[in-house]
Amino acid sequence: MNSRVAGAMETTRGLVIRIKGGVFVVESGVGEMRCSLRGRFRLGDTPEEVLPVVGDTVTVGIERSGGAGESQGVIVELGARRSILARTDPSQRKGYRILGANMDQAILVFAVKEPDLNLRLLDRMLVSAACGPMDAIVCVNKIDLADARAGIDEALVPYRAMGYRCVCSSARTGEGVEELAGMLTGKLSIFAGPSGSGKSSLISRMQPGLELAVGSVSSRTGKGMHTTSHFEIHPLARGGYLGDTPGVREFGIWGVSKEKLAGFFRDFAPYRAECRFASCTHSHEPDCAVKDAVEDGGVSRERYESYLRILETVPDERGMKRPG
Ligand code: GDP
Ligand code: ZN
Repeated sequence: MNSRVAGAMETTRGLVIRIKGGVFVVESGVGEMRCSLRGRFRLGDTPEEVLPVVGDTVTVGIERSGGAGESQGVIVELGARRSILARTDPSQRKGYRILGANMDQAILVFAVKEPDLNLRLLDRMLVSAACGPMDAIVCVNKIDLADARAGIDEALVPYRAMGYRCVCSSARTGEGVEELAGMLTGKLSIFAGPSGSGKSSLISRMQPGLELAVGSVSSRTGKGMHTTSHFEIHPLARGGYLGDTPGVREFGIWGVSKEKLAGFFRDFAPYRAECRFASCTHSHEPDCAVKDAVEDGGVSRERYESYLRILETVPDERGMKRPG
């Protein structure tokens, strides 16, 4: 809704969908607007975390209301963020850099094979999504290549038990694609997962013409082709937006300490309070209820192994960077 405050510029609400060369492209009631920052948002003297990023809702002062793509404005206010998409960056005061905001969910796409189904990477990416916080949807693609469907269903049992929605799909035959498309409607989603799992194929099958560079990795250098700060969202025909993730490795775990990690493992929740030490990291401590649950089968051994692996890679509380 547009509004006019006496003596002030006419304003409108919008969503930042792209940032390029200092221009913020905002989707608003008056169409796409090219916006600049002014006043307290001036670059250079504003802490990074309060600068608008892709996915932010903003209030824009309308400077010029033109035809398609010609409207211009100035961002005057930033809306509250539901979630952030970030990657670890030791050069930042907080230890991470914000790439985007307000993503509702991450679609974690893995292949049955080619490349092999890597559930340990899935466990890691579930933690990444929870950092946002974002919901996670598990998509096992290339189901047409599965020798035995039962094996896949079995592998997904612990994830369904934790409450994660799981979809088996094939970008080749179209199986599950409609189910997945339905989950995207009205949401801000990102696709992530190993290179070659079929993210681009699924997206172009859902919406022909929508070509994203999701997680693209150069075959020559093995590195993501996008600059690390590149992130944009594309409107979906049925409502909602799809974010273009800047490479799978950027969808990392940030802001999580060794002490907090177990909180991101939903399957540990029924046991954690029973450990002898409140600060238990469920690794070397005696009388650990999570370790007991692994022995008793309450927690899957594979999930516990994923936990231990991630535990080694995250800092402890003292090692965490903090504001100030
Ligand atoms: P991305 O790196 O995750 O975006 O993966 P792509 O969409 O580029 O797919 C990688 C390769 O897998 C391509 O050769 C696709 O044709 C193939 N592919 C994608 N989805 C499927 C599928 O559901 N079944 C089969 N058999 N192949 C697929
Ligand atoms: Zn414990």
